[in-house]
Amino acid sequence: MNIIDKSKLIKNHELTALENVESYLKTIKNKNNKINAFLEVKEDEAIQQAEKIDKRIKKGEKVGKLAGLAIGVKTNINIEDFIISAASKTLENYNGSYNATVIDRIKAEDGIILGTTNMDEFAAGSSTETSYFGVTDNPAAPGRIPGGSSGGSAAAIAAEMCDLSLGSDTGGSIRNPASHCGVMGFKSTYGVVSRQGLLDLAMSLEQIGPFANDASGIALMLDSIVGYDPRECTSLKDTPSFEGITENTQDIMKGMKLGVVKEFFDVSDDKISKIVEERIDKMAEMGAEVVELSFKYLDLCIPTYYLINYVEFFSATRKYDGRKYGYRIEEVCGDEVLRRIHIGSYISQKEYSGKYYKKALQARSLIRREITGLLDGVDALISPTVPKLPHKLGESLDPMDMYAYDVLTVIANLAGIPAGSMKAGEIDGIPVGLQIQGKPLDDAKIIQLMAGIEQIQ
Ligand code: GLN
Repeated sequence: MNIIDKSKLIKNHELTALENVESYLKTIKNKNNKINAFLEVKEDEAIQQAEKIDKRIKKGEKVGKLAGLAIGVKTNINIEDFIISAASKTLENYNGSYNATVIDRIKAEDGIILGTTNMDEFAAGSSTETSYFGVTDNPAAPGRIPGGSSGGSAAAIAAEMCDLSLGSDTGGSIRNPASHCGVMGFKSTYGVVSRQGLLDLAMSLEQIGPFANDASGIALMLDSIVGYDPRECTSLKDTPSFEGITENTQDIMKGMKLGVVKEFFDVSDDKISKIVEERIDKMAEMGAEVVELSFKYLDLCIPTYYLINYVEFFSATRKYDGRKYGYRIEEVCGDEVLRRIHIGSYISQKEYSGKYYKKALQARSLIRREITGLLDGVDALISPTVPKLPHKLGESLDPMDMYAYDVLTVIANLAGIPAGSMKAGEIDGIPVGLQIQGKPLDDAKIIQLMAGIEQIQ
């Protein structure tokens, strides 16, 4: 049963919101000690909210799109009265003083927020190992990283601790853990989802977005949270509609033109490429036309992304000076956050000569032009999401090896285009993800493709 069907059961009172929430709370109790996906859970409030929704349904009152569904939220998105720490000691005592726009919208649609989920410190990572609150285990491949930085939100879905969850994606932080945990994750076109209330990593690159176990869940969450937000300057006026888009998608492949970029497969492990190619063959059997393409600037993507990330992150962290709230960030943060602050500060100082940042912006334009040029001729690009399998917990990687996980995901952030990840198969039981990237504002088309692919057996 998919998430939209489940939400209908709740609305018809065939399943109560209370039963739904209680069963997830039980799973969290049983599994969270080991997995560490959730950082804070408010049981009593969730139960009270569920009871209220059930009462309204019984009385025949209209309830929202997310009525009775259980939701986890990455702990860098403000929720009133939850600790919003961004998994850093800097903010370990910061109590959310307001709701981010996406949280207001979830509440308006009667979604039930169970709690906050684990992540890399300030979302700066690809493994969830840099959290001040300990690592998250991968429920689909125990003993390995869940990916990151939204590792807790992906693991919560994989471990069936909630129906839906939210993450943030600056350079892949939704798609990467979705890939490693074998679930679905989606980053929208820049500006489609309000960033208001998100603790920034790098504001020109990031979007809040959903995780789910099926495409209907991705569509339902987006349908609830997208839309213009007058409180946020990067928010777009006209946003796509997601209502009902995953229904009747069995023939979606017919007439679709899918681009396969050779270089995206060349950088990936052979076994990962093979699994994704097999899926593409299936899509072709179902009526899609597949064309081979070439992308010139793959080598530029990681340096360009990280340079911009360092500079924007450095600027975003200046408010954590210990005066207004929290501790002074440099005094308590972990190595990766400190590295970004130092390099970001250095680059900003050198900027009068346009030495680095200006060059990175030029490279960003080239990358954007190249990828949107490729997309002009096709409906979507299909590739692996992450070029290698998740490493074992406890294995230590040097920063460049950690960054290498992101080579296929940062492009969508640099270009502001929509991209989703879903499971393509497994290697020795470890999930492998497939990424779909599309034209700006073609978000719904990508999710429909994901709905089509999930029907392939
Ligand atoms: N791994 C990337 C980084 O460390 C992406 C992080 C993210 O998307 N939040 O910056």
